[in-house]
Amino acid sequence: MSILRSLRRKLKDSRNRWEDLCKKCGICCYAKDGGLLRTVIYMNKPCEYFDKRTKLCKVYEERFRVCQFCGKVRIYHALFSRCLPDTCGYVEHYRRWRLVRGAEIKR
Ligand code: SF4
Ligand code: SF4
Repeated sequence: MSILRSLRRKLKDSRNRWEDLCKKCGICCYAKDGGLLRTVIYMNKPCEYFDKRTKLCKVYEERFRVCQFCGKVRIYHALFSRCLPDTCGYVEHYRRWRLVRGAEIKR
């Protein structure tokens, strides 16, 4: 196997491992109101591209182009963002000490 192919495969594996942390709960696709210390997620206000039945994005492949509020979850968010709930797979995996609390969910 060529070095390039091996590197591509490692990159793909690492991307898949990252994506696998997402529980596909869809909670981050609801409206948020962010303060300095606390963010509230409103579960009665989903993103217009969110399918409540499947809990999936209707425009997943082009979500960053189509939706101005959509952003990729990165390691910084997993560790420190108050916009993700405590139940988020990234938060559970990376924020085990929980010094930074996640967003409050309003049903
Ligand atoms: S566009 Fe982004 S925020 Fe909206 S449903 Fe899709 S992934 Fe969620
Ligand atoms: S809140 Fe976390 S686990 Fe749920 S969909 Fe968003 S990124 Fe995935």
